[in-house]
Amino acid sequence: RAHLDRIAAVDQDVHAFLHISDAALATAASVDAARLDGADLSPLAGVPVAIKDVLCTFDMPSTAGSRILEGWVPPYDATVVARMRHAHLVPLGKTNMDEFAMGSSTEHSAYGPTRNPWDLDRIPGGSGGGSAAAVAAFEAPIALGSDTGGSIRQPAAVTGSVGMKPTYGGVSRYGAIALASSLDQVGPVTRTVLDAALLHDVIGGHDPRDSTSLTDAWPSFAAAARAGQTGEALKGVRVGVVKELDGEGFQQGVRQRFQESLELMAGAGAEIVEVSAPHFDYSIAAYYLILPAEASSNLAKFDSVRYGMRVVPDGGGTVEDVMAATRDAGFGDEVKRRIILGTYALSAGYYDAYYGSAQKVRTLIQRDFDAAFAQADVLVSPAAPTTAFKFGEKLDDPLAMYLNDITTIPANLAGVPGIALPIGLAPEDGLPVGIQLMAPVREDARLYTIGAALE
Ligand code: GLN
Repeated sequence: RAHLDRIAAVDQDVHAFLHISDAALATAASVDAARLDGADLSPLAGVPVAIKDVLCTFDMPSTAGSRILEGWVPPYDATVVARMRHAHLVPLGKTNMDEFAMGSSTEHSAYGPTRNPWDLDRIPGGSGGGSAAAVAAFEAPIALGSDTGGSIRQPAAVTGSVGMKPTYGGVSRYGAIALASSLDQVGPVTRTVLDAALLHDVIGGHDPRDSTSLTDAWPSFAAAARAGQTGEALKGVRVGVVKELDGEGFQQGVRQRFQESLELMAGAGAEIVEVSAPHFDYSIAAYYLILPAEASSNLAKFDSVRYGMRVVPDGGGTVEDVMAATRDAGFGDEVKRRIILGTYALSAGYYDAYYGSAQKVRTLIQRDFDAAFAQADVLVSPAAPTTAFKFGEKLDDPLAMYLNDITTIPANLAGVPGIALPIGLAPEDGLPVGIQLMAPVREDARLYTIGAALE
């Protein structure tokens, strides 16, 4: 009730939600009843959760921020949603996002932007700005996001929240409306590292419905976070500062808080080493070929026949005419831009030059990670190059928007886990700054331990 009241009070300004569940109170009451009956409930039972609208929910519309899916209610739950229901969490509603998760500001949502609770004239990050703003505005205690190139970690950074992108394959993608299938991961957005770990414990683990799901037995992430809370966890940890993810283009106050964090870690017994990952300089170029290529293929299913919107041109027309009219009316500019880029990069004659080259760069970036992790247990960088920028600042310049993703994209290209957590406010604008920690593939628990120690 308190969260629904808070949503009623602030969401006309923040606009974190696209849909509020009408079942939340009844679900919460049933959890209370089970508790009174002495049921053995999971640690998050009864906790309300906000769900990014890219995740399918059988009882709420799932639009992925797009007009083409307006009002569409999927026939099934995403695995992560089903697991949350099974653990008795209470879905509060669906959160706003850039259309099909393309963007860094939520300005590409077909339903209008979300505002940053710290300053309503500024972006909450993207694409999962709704989930991060809901958590930061106390409309929800925890939320789910998806991260293809930073859409969990960058919104967390600019709203003073915690955001975790798990190892690729660690959390099921079944029922997550696909952006770029080789990069997408679902993960938690929360106010504390322990909360993120608790939610990860609920949603993670093998799912036979996702062909890229890892079959690993994962440790308890909550236990890993609690182990970090003792304060001893940083002793002897080798912290690698990635040379390529700092410096030119990074805001002064962001760099200052980042430096202070490094000093704090050194003071707690960590060994700070500089590492170089030379191919990270090409990560944005590679990502913005691989992502549009995969997205153009994934979005081909929105054909006016199988899902959502259908626009029939005046006087009728062929199936192709209906498809074209629907996709023209249903997709926004950024989505069209990426479909065109992607189909071009995949077209015969260009495939090797663009998509093929980008995949080779991806391998080089993975090798940079391997070399860096030979020298360090975790890699660190600012979670985003700047604090929250103002609406409109980068909207007319797609390249400026893409460049904002420099810190987060390498982890997606290599499949490694990354966590963003708050490290104070930038002196020049009083806005939240985040640090990012990255660990080798499958070492998500390490991020929870060291993240909790740093928190
Ligand atoms: N800003 C990135 C993009 O626009 C992030 C996308 C994401 O993680 N969903 O592609």
